[in-house]
Amino acid sequence: MATTIKRVEIESRRELSELMRDQFLSLDAAARDSQRKVAWCTSVGPCEILSAMGFEVYFPENHGALLGARRLSHEFIPRAVSIGYGAESCSYMNSDIGSTLMGHSPLQDVFGIAGPPKPDLLVYSTNQCREVQDWWSFYGQRDGAPVMGVCPPTHLGEVTPEQVAFVRGQLEQLIERIEQQFSLKLDYDRLREVVTLSSRASTLWRQVLDTATAHPAALSFFDGVIHMAPVILMRGTQKAIDYYETLLNELNRRVEKGTGAVPDELHRIYWEGMPIWPKLRELSEKFYDLRAIVAASTYCNSWAFDEFDGDDPLEWMARTSIEIFINRDEPVKQRFLIEMFDKFAIDGVIFHNARTCPNNTNSRFGMSERLREELSIPVLVIDGDLSDVRFFSTAQTMTNIEAFIEQIEELQR
Ligand code: SF4
Repeated sequence: MATTIKRVEIESRRELSELMRDQFLSLDAAARDSQRKVAWCTSVGPCEILSAMGFEVYFPENHGALLGARRLSHEFIPRAVSIGYGAESCSYMNSDIGSTLMGHSPLQDVFGIAGPPKPDLLVYSTNQCREVQDWWSFYGQRDGAPVMGVCPPTHLGEVTPEQVAFVRGQLEQLIERIEQQFSLKLDYDRLREVVTLSSRASTLWRQVLDTATAHPAALSFFDGVIHMAPVILMRGTQKAIDYYETLLNELNRRVEKGTGAVPDELHRIYWEGMPIWPKLRELSEKFYDLRAIVAASTYCNSWAFDEFDGDDPLEWMARTSIEIFINRDEPVKQRFLIEMFDKFAIDGVIFHNARTCPNNTNSRFGMSERLREELSIPVLVIDGDLSDVRFFSTAQTMTNIEAFIEQIEELQR
């Protein structure tokens, strides 16, 4: 039965909508201005170099998420499959390429612009997956733009100084290639400024997420996936910092007043894996009705980096890019998750087995079972996908979530 308690909306969301509009209008204007250059970049870097060199930075993964959230992916994925992309390859990539081939983007409807800005340069890091390299290559060929990137060591246990130095060296080579290609010179003082801003936004983002340690939690995973946009798309700018200061103030007021994202929360859940963008609303309402807060997630935490100490910006970029969860081995991931469960007082864990993103799925090598046994905590594995609804059964998943919450209730009695 649906709860009668009214949801308290996060007011800062209106400001976020304005910020997003400004961001995309600015990108659109840059793409039409021969004096300005647009670079595409992966979501976890190395965007600070591009910003410091004067590029406007666009993040295609955000477009993939938007296609999913607007429930358009299934219309476009078959088009990418028809030119040889696998039906079970990354659905962000497939839907994005398909939307380009079919000439339709939700950016047209949402912001009134022609679509994603054409790239002058495409830069990737394979610290999250190799798919991005192939994805960018499609556009590099289509638009005749150079594709460059860094390939850090992956699946790391402890991160060593040698590994950081290796990636730092790759970043230096990347800078040299961009300088040669575009007759530019990177100003390292400017890079330090951008990295300082980036780190500040990231720290504020962590503080925003930490307001969910309160009981009731001030925001949920479903709020987080919306409000994380600036820390990805506007990282390295003052406007991202200003936005998170506003949001953090609002959330701290909620904590003081005892206002929760789920006001009468009874159960606290951890979400491991990618969001299921086309089903966010249904899932959010299901947890709300079950008086369960999804209080923390690996995904939202992916942009909460360690602070920059003001010394070497390239070292910070190299280190943070390989320290991220997705780039680590199973024992490190498991330790991180246990710390998160403790920090957020988690009652149960949901693993999302995303069919087209094995890279961001951690239930395939026994981790869910190990955690269930070690912590005696209820664990549910949901089969689905970040974007492609063909891999998700709403009825089956909702039934499984209800049974999972009942299991938690049993343990809480
Ligand atoms: S991490 Fe997953 S969702 Fe993101 S680009 Fe790579 S394969 Fe796609």
